[in-house]
Amino acid sequence: MFNLILFGPPGSGKGTQSEKLIAKYGLVHLSTGDLLRSEISRQTALGMEAKNFMDKGALVPDEVVIGMISSSIDQNESAKGFLFDGFPRTAAQAEALDKLLELKKAPIDVMLALEVSEEELVKRLMKRGETSGRSDDTNEEIIRARILEYHNKTTAVADYYNQFNKVSMVEGEGSIDDIFGSLCAAIDARIEA
Ligand code: AMP
Repeated sequence: MFNLILFGPPGSGKGTQSEKLIAKYGLVHLSTGDLLRSEISRQTALGMEAKNFMDKGALVPDEVVIGMISSSIDQNESAKGFLFDGFPRTAAQAEALDKLLELKKAPIDVMLALEVSEEELVKRLMKRGETSGRSDDTNEEIIRARILEYHNKTTAVADYYNQFNKVSMVEGEGSIDDIFGSLCAAIDARIEA
């Protein structure tokens, strides 16, 4: 099994790059943002609870997302590996994920962290908001709140994986293909290691 985390602020290109990475490496894509939006569109109780946080650009409580990831891992018994996108976003989520993966004897191999400047992120997200139908992509204040939330809470996740030497930083500005090339180089270096 090869398990990786694709990490980076909102608008850093995680969704686009995830699609390309799962095709190349045969991984199962688990995006907590996509799972939550699916719960909302099905109007489940979990979705309704999550929506209150998401509309403000705040994080959904840890136990909600950890429960969702746990059942998604269970539903993909024969996966060759997972690409976690938008998860973990707190140190508590990272610890919970380690425990879930310990049961499978398949730890996280690498956390790839995309780096993009704040101005570029706001520009990309406002543009995405014109077509994505995502309400959290149309308001600059909410976008800045999400980026701030990322820096406040989520960088603790990078510190967590840094202890185990599992973080590779990747430049997230440039062409989609160039960024993909850098991500693949970082993954291949870990596979060969
Ligand atoms: P994303 O699609 O990854 O940008 O996530 C959209 C929103 O979903 C975030 O702003 C959070 O409100 C929520 N969300 C997604 N993943 C997580 C997570 N791992 N922990 C907490 N909240 C999350």
